[in-house]
Amino acid sequence: MSFSLLADWVGGSIFEIDPAALSGCGIRLLLADLDNTLAPYGVPEPDERVRDWEAKLKRHGVTLFILSNNRHPQRSGRFSKALGVPFIGHAGKPKRPSFVRAMEQMGCTQAQTAIVGDQIFTDILGGNNAGVTTLLVEPIRLAGNPGRYLRYAVEWPFRVLAKRRRRAL
Ligand SMILES: [Mg+2]
Repeated sequence: MSFSLLADWVGGSIFEIDPAALSGCGIRLLLADLDNTLAPYGVPEPDERVRDWEAKLKRHGVTLFILSNNRHPQRSGRFSKALGVPFIGHAGKPKRPSFVRAMEQMGCTQAQTAIVGDQIFTDILGGNNAGVTTLLVEPIRLAGNPGRYLRYAVEWPFRVLAKRRRRAL
């Protein structure tokens, strides 16, 4: 367990994460944030590109598992069911329990687990705290929301630092 705001890997979007490479690192379980990581806020179902990427993960033996802080109960459920993957909604990231619950549910260790998300103070802090590999992506769309711009500005130095020392995937 470690308190760190630095991601192990940083990329532009989930599509830069190569399922074969992830599998090659021993990852069997990829926890994924939903809003602004897999889809923009308010888009209820996954698009074709996300479906293809998930199918490729599955072919390489990696289970995608949605871990979302979204408070609307139907949001994570509808999206995850459409994609055919397990999920935990209202997950309370960066707290550890939802990470532990997901790993227990899938029978995976910390070393076999990674999380991908667009927010440092929930996804990355939580992932590091839970002892899993952390993958940071750019938010899909800030969409004129002042709170999201502000948060992104605060996150910026940690994105730059992580990018400098990121390890290969
Ligand atoms: Mg997000």
